[in-house]
Amino acid sequence: MTREEIIRKHKQYLFPSISTYYADPLVTDHASMQYLWDVEGNKYLDFFGGIVTISAGHTNQRITSKVKAQIDKLQHASTLFPNEAVVALAEKLAHITPGEISQSFISNSGTEANETAVQLARVYTGRYEVVALRHGYSGRSQLAQALTGQNTWRRSLPGASGIVHAINPYCYRCPLGMTYPSCGVACANDVEAVIQTTTSGQIAAFIAEPIQGLGGFITPPKEYFKIVFKIVKDYGGLFIADEVQTGWGRTGKKWFGIEQWEVTPDIITAAKGMANGMPIGATMTRPEIAASFQGLQISTFGGNPVTSVAAKATIDLIEEDRLMDNAAVVGSYFRQRLEELQHKHPLIGDVRGMGLLQAIELVRDGKSKEPAPQETAQFMEECRKLGLLIGKGGLYGNVIRMSPPLNIAKADVDQAFEIMDKAMARTSTHATAMAR
Ligand code: PMP
Repeated sequence: MTREEIIRKHKQYLFPSISTYYADPLVTDHASMQYLWDVEGNKYLDFFGGIVTISAGHTNQRITSKVKAQIDKLQHASTLFPNEAVVALAEKLAHITPGEISQSFISNSGTEANETAVQLARVYTGRYEVVALRHGYSGRSQLAQALTGQNTWRRSLPGASGIVHAINPYCYRCPLGMTYPSCGVACANDVEAVIQTTTSGQIAAFIAEPIQGLGGFITPPKEYFKIVFKIVKDYGGLFIADEVQTGWGRTGKKWFGIEQWEVTPDIITAAKGMANGMPIGATMTRPEIAASFQGLQISTFGGNPVTSVAAKATIDLIEEDRLMDNAAVVGSYFRQRLEELQHKHPLIGDVRGMGLLQAIELVRDGKSKEPAPQETAQFMEECRKLGLLIGKGGLYGNVIRMSPPLNIAKADVDQAFEIMDKAMARTSTHATAMAR
Protein backbone atom coordinates (compact mmCIF):
# COMPACT_ATOMS: atom_id res chain seq x y z
CA MET A 1 0.00 0.00 0.00
CA THR A 2 1.10 3.57 -0.55
CA ARG A 3 1.36 5.97 2.38
CA GLU A 4 -1.80 7.76 1.21
CA GLU A 5 -3.72 4.48 0.97
CA ILE A 6 -2.72 3.53 4.50
CA ILE A 7 -3.87 6.87 5.89
CA ARG A 8 -7.13 6.72 3.93
CA LYS A 9 -7.90 3.16 5.01
CA HIS A 10 -6.97 3.96 8.61
CA LYS A 11 -9.68 6.63 8.55
CA GLN A 12 -12.15 4.46 6.67
CA TYR A 13 -11.87 1.17 8.55
CA LEU A 14 -10.77 1.98 12.08
CA PHE A 15 -12.87 3.73 14.75
CA PRO A 16 -12.51 7.51 14.41
CA SER A 17 -11.81 7.73 18.16
CA ILE A 18 -8.37 6.26 17.44
CA SER A 19 -6.49 9.53 17.15
CA THR A 20 -2.97 9.79 15.76
CA TYR A 21 -0.10 12.19 16.37
CA TYR A 22 0.77 15.02 13.92
CA ALA A 23 -1.34 16.99 11.42
CA ASP A 24 0.08 14.71 8.71
CA PRO A 25 0.22 11.26 10.36
CA LEU A 26 3.56 9.45 10.56
CA VAL A 27 3.14 6.05 8.92
CA THR A 28 5.59 3.66 10.56
CA ASP A 29 7.56 1.12 8.57
CA HIS A 30 10.32 -0.48 10.64
CA ALA A 31 12.46 0.17 13.69
CA SER A 32 15.72 -0.88 15.28
CA MET A 33 16.92 -0.05 18.80
CA GLN A 34 16.49 3.73 19.37
CA TYR A 35 15.55 4.44 15.74
CA LEU A 36 12.30 4.23 13.78
CA TRP A 37 11.72 4.73 10.06
CA ASP A 38 8.54 5.86 8.31
CA VAL A 39 7.34 4.41 5.00
CA GLU A 40 9.02 7.23 3.10
CA GLY A 41 12.39 6.19 4.52
CA ASN A 42 12.78 9.06 7.01
CA LYS A 43 14.75 8.05 10.10
CA TYR A 44 13.78 9.22 13.59
CA LEU A 45 15.42 9.07 16.99
CA ASP A 46 12.61 7.66 19.12
CA PHE A 47 12.50 9.46 22.44
CA PHE A 48 9.01 8.25 23.27
CA GLY A 49 9.81 4.54 22.88
CA GLY A 50 6.42 3.56 21.48
CA ILE A 51 4.36 4.93 24.36
CA VAL A 52 6.82 4.39 27.20
CA THR A 53 6.99 0.79 25.98
CA ILE A 54 10.31 0.12 24.28
CA SER A 55 12.49 -0.69 27.28
CA ALA A 56 15.47 -2.23 25.52
CA GLY A 57 15.35 -0.80 21.99
CA HIS A 58 12.99 -1.59 19.12
CA THR A 59 13.16 -5.15 17.76
CA ASN A 60 16.10 -5.94 20.06
CA GLN A 61 17.49 -9.19 18.65
CA ARG A 62 18.27 -10.57 22.08
CA ILE A 63 14.53 -10.50 22.76
CA THR A 64 13.10 -11.20 19.31
CA SER A 65 15.32 -14.27 18.79
CA LYS A 66 13.73 -15.90 21.85
CA VAL A 67 10.26 -14.80 20.73
CA LYS A 68 10.80 -16.30 17.26
CA ALA A 69 11.98 -19.59 18.75
CA GLN A 70 8.91 -19.74 20.99
CA ILE A 71 6.54 -18.99 18.08
CA ASP A 72 7.91 -22.01 16.25
CA LYS A 73 7.65 -24.19 19.36
CA LEU A 74 4.31 -23.38 20.99
CA GLN A 75 2.28 -20.27 20.26
CA HIS A 76 -0.88 -20.87 22.24
CA ALA A 77 -2.46 -23.32 24.63
CA SER A 78 -4.50 -21.05 27.01
CA THR A 79 -4.44 -20.81 30.79
CA LEU A 80 -5.94 -24.32 31.02
CA PHE A 81 -2.50 -25.86 30.41
CA PRO A 82 0.63 -24.85 32.33
CA ASN A 83 3.62 -23.88 30.19
CA GLU A 84 7.25 -23.26 31.04
CA ALA A 85 7.29 -19.71 29.63
CA VAL A 86 4.62 -18.29 31.93
CA VAL A 87 5.95 -20.12 34.98
CA ALA A 88 9.48 -18.84 34.37
CA LEU A 89 8.13 -15.30 34.01
CA ALA A 90 6.00 -15.50 37.16
CA GLU A 91 8.94 -16.88 39.15
CA LYS A 92 11.11 -13.99 37.95
CA LEU A 93 8.42 -11.48 38.91
CA ALA A 94 8.22 -13.00 42.41
CA HIS A 95 11.97 -12.41 42.81
CA ILE A 96 12.05 -8.80 41.68
CA THR A 97 8.84 -7.43 43.20
CA PRO A 98 9.12 -5.71 46.61
CA GLY A 99 7.93 -7.11 49.96
CA GLU A 100 6.02 -10.36 49.98
CA ILE A 101 4.53 -9.95 46.54
CA SER A 102 5.02 -13.32 44.88
CA GLN A 103 2.00 -14.25 42.76
CA SER A 104 0.86 -12.86 39.43
CA PHE A 105 -2.16 -12.79 37.18
CA ILE A 106 -0.86 -12.32 33.65
CA SER A 107 -3.16 -10.58 31.17
CA ASN A 108 -2.80 -8.57 27.98
CA SER A 109 -2.82 -4.86 28.81
CA GLY A 110 -2.54 -2.22 31.50
CA THR A 111 -6.30 -1.77 31.45
CA GLU A 112 -6.83 -5.44 32.27
CA ALA A 113 -4.13 -5.34 34.93
CA ASN A 114 -5.87 -2.45 36.71
CA GLU A 115 -9.32 -3.96 36.29
CA THR A 116 -8.01 -7.16 37.89
CA ALA A 117 -6.35 -5.25 40.74
CA VAL A 118 -9.48 -3.33 41.70
CA GLN A 119 -11.65 -6.44 41.43
CA LEU A 120 -9.18 -8.29 43.64
CA ALA A 121 -9.04 -5.51 46.25
CA ARG A 122 -12.82 -5.53 46.40
CA VAL A 123 -13.17 -9.27 46.95
CA TYR A 124 -10.26 -9.35 49.41
CA THR A 125 -11.55 -6.52 51.61
CA GLY A 126 -15.26 -7.18 51.07
CA ARG A 127 -15.54 -3.45 50.40
CA TYR A 128 -16.30 -1.47 47.29
CA GLU A 129 -15.05 2.09 47.32
CA VAL A 130 -11.78 3.06 45.64
CA VAL A 131 -9.80 6.29 45.88
CA ALA A 132 -7.94 7.40 42.75
CA LEU A 133 -6.14 10.63 41.90
CA ARG A 134 -7.15 13.54 39.70
CA HIS A 135 -5.06 13.76 36.51
CA GLY A 136 -4.44 10.00 36.70
CA TYR A 137 -4.92 7.54 33.84
CA SER A 138 -5.91 3.90 34.36
CA GLY A 139 -7.02 2.59 30.97
CA ARG A 140 -9.97 2.41 28.63
CA SER A 141 -12.46 -0.10 30.09
CA GLN A 142 -15.53 1.28 31.86
CA LEU A 143 -13.91 0.78 35.28
CA ALA A 144 -10.50 2.06 34.20
CA GLN A 145 -12.05 5.16 32.66
CA ALA A 146 -13.95 5.78 35.87
CA LEU A 147 -10.65 5.60 37.77
CA THR A 148 -9.10 8.06 35.33
CA GLY A 149 -8.94 11.67 36.44
CA GLN A 150 -8.92 13.57 33.12
CA ASN A 151 -12.12 14.50 31.30
CA THR A 152 -10.43 14.09 27.92
CA TRP A 153 -10.09 10.33 28.56
CA ARG A 154 -13.55 9.94 30.11
CA ARG A 155 -15.69 11.09 27.20
CA SER A 156 -17.30 7.70 26.57
CA LEU A 157 -19.26 8.02 29.80
CA PRO A 158 -17.61 5.65 32.26
CA GLY A 159 -20.24 3.56 34.01
CA ALA A 160 -18.47 2.31 37.12
CA SER A 161 -19.53 3.57 40.53
CA GLY A 162 -17.79 3.64 43.91
CA ILE A 163 -14.79 5.66 42.75
CA VAL A 164 -13.73 8.99 44.23
CA HIS A 165 -10.80 11.22 43.33
CA ALA A 166 -8.40 13.07 45.60
CA ILE A 167 -6.32 16.03 44.44
CA ASN A 168 -2.96 15.13 42.98
CA PRO A 169 0.54 16.20 44.04
CA TYR A 170 1.03 18.57 41.12
CA CYS A 171 3.62 20.94 42.59
CA TYR A 172 3.95 23.13 39.47
CA ARG A 173 0.20 23.84 39.57
CA CYS A 174 -0.54 23.09 43.20
CA PRO A 175 -4.29 22.46 43.51
CA LEU A 176 -4.10 24.10 46.95
CA GLY A 177 -2.14 27.10 45.70
CA MET A 178 0.72 26.26 48.06
CA THR A 179 4.47 25.85 47.57
CA TYR A 180 6.66 22.87 48.43
CA PRO A 181 8.19 22.31 50.99
CA SER A 182 6.45 24.95 53.15
CA CYS A 183 3.12 23.30 52.20
CA GLY A 184 4.01 20.31 54.38
CA VAL A 185 2.73 18.12 51.51
CA ALA A 186 -0.82 19.16 52.43
CA CYS A 187 -2.18 17.53 49.23
CA ALA A 188 -1.52 14.08 50.73
CA ASN A 189 -4.06 14.80 53.48
CA ASP A 190 -6.76 15.28 50.87
CA VAL A 191 -6.83 11.50 50.53
CA GLU A 192 -8.11 11.35 54.12
CA ALA A 193 -10.55 14.23 53.61
CA VAL A 194 -11.95 12.50 50.52
CA ILE A 195 -12.33 9.20 52.38
CA GLN A 196 -14.06 10.94 55.29
CA THR A 197 -16.43 13.02 53.19
CA THR A 198 -17.16 11.10 49.99
CA THR A 199 -17.01 7.41 50.99
CA SER A 200 -18.47 5.23 53.72
CA GLY A 201 -15.11 5.53 55.45
CA GLN A 202 -14.31 1.93 54.59
CA ILE A 203 -12.35 1.76 51.39
CA ALA A 204 -11.28 -1.25 49.34
CA ALA A 205 -8.25 0.42 47.81
CA PHE A 206 -6.27 3.44 46.77
CA ILE A 207 -4.76 3.37 43.28
CA ALA A 208 -2.12 5.71 41.88
CA GLU A 209 0.71 5.91 39.40
CA PRO A 210 3.96 6.74 41.23
CA ILE A 211 4.51 9.32 38.47
CA GLN A 212 1.34 10.25 36.59
CA GLY A 213 2.02 9.32 32.97
CA LEU A 214 -0.65 10.75 30.71
CA GLY A 215 -1.10 13.45 33.33
CA GLY A 216 2.28 14.76 32.16
CA PHE A 217 4.86 12.92 34.30
CA ILE A 218 3.61 14.62 37.45
CA THR A 219 6.15 13.61 40.08
CA PRO A 220 5.11 13.72 43.76
CA PRO A 221 7.41 15.11 46.47
CA LYS A 222 9.44 12.47 48.31
CA GLU A 223 7.17 12.44 51.40
CA TYR A 224 3.90 12.07 49.50
CA PHE A 225 3.31 8.32 49.20
CA LYS A 226 4.45 7.52 52.75
CA ILE A 227 1.78 9.87 54.11
CA VAL A 228 -0.86 8.50 51.74
CA PHE A 229 0.09 4.88 52.49
CA LYS A 230 -0.53 5.44 56.21
CA ILE A 231 -3.92 7.03 55.51
CA VAL A 232 -4.93 4.15 53.23
CA LYS A 233 -3.94 1.64 55.90
CA ASP A 234 -5.77 3.60 58.64
CA TYR A 235 -8.95 3.19 56.60
CA GLY A 236 -8.35 -0.48 55.83
CA GLY A 237 -7.66 -0.23 52.10
CA LEU A 238 -5.12 -1.91 49.84
CA PHE A 239 -2.49 0.23 48.16
CA ILE A 240 -2.31 -0.40 44.41
CA ALA A 241 0.71 0.98 42.53
CA ASP A 242 0.01 1.36 38.81
CA GLU A 243 3.49 0.80 37.38
CA VAL A 244 2.39 0.68 33.75
CA GLN A 245 4.70 3.59 32.90
CA THR A 246 7.08 3.62 35.88
CA GLY A 247 7.95 -0.08 36.08
CA TRP A 248 10.91 -2.13 34.85
CA GLY A 249 13.68 0.23 35.87
CA ARG A 250 12.49 3.30 34.02
CA THR A 251 12.81 5.64 37.02
CA GLY A 252 16.39 4.47 37.65
CA LYS A 253 18.10 2.04 40.01
CA LYS A 254 14.86 0.33 41.21
CA TRP A 255 12.60 -2.09 39.40
CA PHE A 256 9.43 -0.21 40.34
CA GLY A 257 8.72 3.50 40.64
CA ILE A 258 6.95 3.24 43.99
CA GLU A 259 10.19 1.95 45.53
CA GLN A 260 11.62 5.46 45.05
CA TRP A 261 9.12 6.61 47.67
CA GLU A 262 10.04 3.74 50.02
CA VAL A 263 6.54 2.34 50.08
CA THR A 264 5.71 -1.36 49.67
CA PRO A 265 2.38 -1.66 47.88
CA ASP A 266 -0.12 -4.49 48.32
CA ILE A 267 -0.69 -4.83 44.58
CA ILE A 268 1.42 -3.79 41.59
CA THR A 269 0.03 -3.52 38.09
CA ALA A 270 2.22 -3.36 35.00
CA ALA A 271 2.20 -3.57 31.19
CA LYS A 272 3.88 -1.46 28.45
CA GLY A 273 7.67 -1.82 28.88
CA MET A 274 7.36 -5.25 30.47
CA ALA A 275 7.72 -7.13 27.18
CA ASN A 276 9.43 -4.44 25.07
CA GLY A 277 6.36 -3.92 22.89
CA MET A 278 4.56 -7.27 22.99
CA PRO A 279 1.04 -7.12 24.49
CA ILE A 280 1.09 -8.16 28.13
CA GLY A 281 -0.22 -7.00 31.50
CA ALA A 282 0.40 -8.21 35.03
CA THR A 283 -1.29 -7.88 38.41
CA MET A 284 1.09 -8.90 41.16
CA THR A 285 0.33 -9.36 44.85
CA ARG A 286 0.81 -11.35 48.06
CA PRO A 287 -0.51 -14.94 48.14
CA GLU A 288 -3.22 -14.25 50.75
CA ILE A 289 -4.67 -11.49 48.60
CA ALA A 290 -4.46 -13.56 45.40
CA ALA A 291 -6.21 -16.42 47.23
CA SER A 292 -9.32 -14.32 47.76
CA PHE A 293 -10.19 -14.21 44.06
CA GLN A 294 -13.47 -16.09 43.89
CA GLY A 295 -14.93 -18.37 41.27
CA LEU A 296 -13.13 -19.57 38.20
CA GLN A 297 -10.76 -17.27 36.35
CA ILE A 298 -9.61 -17.72 32.80
CA SER A 299 -7.86 -15.57 30.23
CA THR A 300 -7.60 -16.94 26.71
CA PHE A 301 -4.48 -14.98 25.86
CA GLY A 302 -3.23 -14.19 29.37
CA GLY A 303 0.03 -16.01 30.11
CA ASN A 304 0.54 -16.69 26.44
CA PRO A 305 3.89 -18.46 25.96
CA VAL A 306 5.14 -16.03 23.29
CA THR A 307 4.42 -12.84 25.22
CA SER A 308 5.65 -14.47 28.43
CA VAL A 309 8.98 -15.30 26.75
CA ALA A 310 9.19 -11.72 25.49
CA ALA A 311 8.61 -10.36 29.01
CA LYS A 312 11.12 -12.71 30.65
CA ALA A 313 13.71 -11.90 27.98
CA THR A 314 13.13 -8.15 28.46
CA ILE A 315 13.44 -8.33 32.24
CA ASP A 316 16.56 -10.54 31.99
CA LEU A 317 18.15 -8.09 29.55
CA ILE A 318 17.39 -5.11 31.80
CA GLU A 319 19.04 -6.99 34.66
CA GLU A 320 22.06 -8.32 32.73
CA ASP A 321 22.89 -4.97 31.13
CA ARG A 322 22.12 -3.03 34.34
CA LEU A 323 19.74 -0.81 32.42
CA MET A 324 18.23 0.46 35.67
CA ASP A 325 21.60 2.03 36.44
CA ASN A 326 21.86 3.39 32.91
CA ALA A 327 18.40 4.93 33.33
CA ALA A 328 19.64 6.73 36.44
CA VAL A 329 22.94 7.93 34.93
CA VAL A 330 21.74 8.90 31.45
CA GLY A 331 18.45 10.08 32.97
CA SER A 332 20.16 12.59 35.21
CA TYR A 333 22.30 13.78 32.30
CA PHE A 334 19.12 14.17 30.24
CA ARG A 335 17.50 16.12 33.08
CA GLN A 336 20.50 18.44 33.24
CA ARG A 337 20.28 19.13 29.52
CA LEU A 338 16.53 19.76 29.73
CA GLU A 339 17.14 22.30 32.49
CA GLU A 340 19.71 23.93 30.20
CA LEU A 341 17.00 24.07 27.54
CA GLN A 342 14.61 25.63 30.05
CA HIS A 343 17.10 28.44 30.79
CA LYS A 344 17.32 29.20 27.07
CA HIS A 345 13.62 29.02 26.24
CA PRO A 346 11.00 30.79 28.35
CA LEU A 347 8.31 28.56 26.82
CA ILE A 348 9.46 25.79 29.17
CA GLY A 349 7.74 26.38 32.50
CA ASP A 350 8.68 23.17 34.28
CA VAL A 351 11.04 20.21 33.90
CA ARG A 352 10.15 17.09 35.86
CA GLY A 353 10.33 13.33 36.03
CA MET A 354 12.78 10.70 37.17
CA GLY A 355 15.32 8.51 35.40
CA LEU A 356 14.44 8.13 31.74
CA LEU A 357 10.93 9.42 32.28
CA GLN A 358 11.29 13.17 31.76
CA ALA A 359 8.87 15.90 30.78
CA ILE A 360 8.77 19.60 30.00
CA GLU A 361 5.61 21.64 30.52
CA LEU A 362 5.09 24.46 28.02
CA VAL A 363 3.53 27.76 29.11
CA ARG A 364 2.91 31.04 27.30
CA ASP A 365 4.13 33.02 30.26
CA GLY A 366 6.21 31.89 33.21
CA LYS A 367 4.24 33.96 35.71
CA SER A 368 0.65 33.18 34.76
CA LYS A 369 1.63 29.64 33.69
CA GLU A 370 -0.97 29.82 30.94
CA PRO A 371 -0.76 26.43 29.18
CA ALA A 372 0.63 26.50 25.62
CA PRO A 373 -1.07 23.59 23.80
CA GLN A 374 -0.70 25.02 20.27
CA GLU A 375 2.98 25.67 20.80
CA THR A 376 3.35 22.15 22.21
CA ALA A 377 1.78 20.71 19.08
CA GLN A 378 4.00 22.85 16.90
CA PHE A 379 7.11 21.90 18.88
CA MET A 380 6.28 18.25 18.25
CA GLU A 381 5.90 18.92 14.52
CA GLU A 382 9.24 20.76 14.41
CA CYS A 383 10.97 17.91 16.26
CA ARG A 384 9.51 15.45 13.80
CA LYS A 385 10.80 17.47 10.85
CA LEU A 386 14.25 17.38 12.43
CA GLY A 387 14.06 13.62 13.09
CA LEU A 388 13.01 13.30 16.74
CA LEU A 389 9.91 11.56 18.13
CA ILE A 390 8.53 12.70 21.47
CA GLY A 391 5.18 12.29 23.22
CA LYS A 392 2.52 14.62 24.53
CA GLY A 393 0.36 14.63 27.64
CA GLY A 394 -1.15 16.68 30.42
CA LEU A 395 -4.73 17.71 31.03
CA TYR A 396 -4.13 20.83 28.93
CA GLY A 397 -2.15 19.07 26.18
CA ASN A 398 0.92 21.17 26.96
CA VAL A 399 3.39 18.64 28.33
CA ILE A 400 6.10 16.97 26.24
CA ARG A 401 6.75 13.45 27.53
CA MET A 402 10.02 11.68 26.86
CA SER A 403 10.77 8.04 27.61
CA PRO A 404 13.53 6.72 25.33
CA PRO A 405 14.75 3.13 25.52
CA LEU A 406 16.63 2.44 28.77
CA ASN A 407 19.82 1.56 26.88
CA ILE A 408 20.39 4.90 25.14
CA ALA A 409 23.71 6.70 25.59
CA LYS A 410 24.57 10.30 26.47
CA ALA A 411 25.28 10.89 22.75
CA ASP A 412 21.60 10.15 22.01
CA VAL A 413 20.61 12.70 24.65
CA ASP A 414 22.91 15.25 23.01
CA GLN A 415 21.34 14.59 19.64
CA ALA A 416 17.84 14.97 21.08
CA PHE A 417 18.93 18.16 22.84
CA GLU A 418 20.26 19.72 19.62
CA ILE A 419 17.01 18.95 17.82
CA MET A 420 14.82 20.21 20.66
CA ASP A 421 16.89 23.38 20.93
CA LYS A 422 16.35 24.13 17.22
CA ALA A 423 12.69 23.12 17.33
CA MET A 424 12.11 25.25 20.40
CA ALA A 425 13.67 28.28 18.71
CA ARG A 426 11.30 27.84 15.77
CA THR A 427 8.35 27.33 18.12
CA SER A 428 9.13 30.35 20.28
CA THR A 429 9.26 32.52 17.17
CA HIS A 430 5.87 31.23 16.16
CA ALA A 431 4.39 31.91 19.61
CA THR A 432 5.74 35.47 19.66
CA ALA A 433 4.44 36.08 16.15
CA MET A 434 1.00 34.90 17.24
CA ALA A 435 1.05 37.17 20.30
CA ARG A 436 1.88 40.17 18.09
N1 PMP B 1 -2.18 2.74 33.42
C1 PMP B 1 -1.31 3.66 32.97
C2 PMP B 1 -0.52 4.44 33.98
C3 PMP B 1 -1.14 3.86 31.61
O1 PMP B 1 -0.27 4.79 31.18
C4 PMP B 1 -1.88 3.09 30.70
C5 PMP B 1 -1.72 3.26 29.20
N2 PMP B 1 -1.38 4.49 28.74
C6 PMP B 1 -2.78 2.15 31.20
C7 PMP B 1 -2.90 2.00 32.57
C8 PMP B 1 -3.59 1.31 30.29
O2 PMP B 1 -2.77 0.44 29.60
P1 PMP B 1 -3.23 -0.22 28.20
O3 PMP B 1 -3.26 0.87 27.18
O4 PMP B 1 -2.18 -1.26 27.96
O5 PMP B 1 -4.56 -0.82 28.44
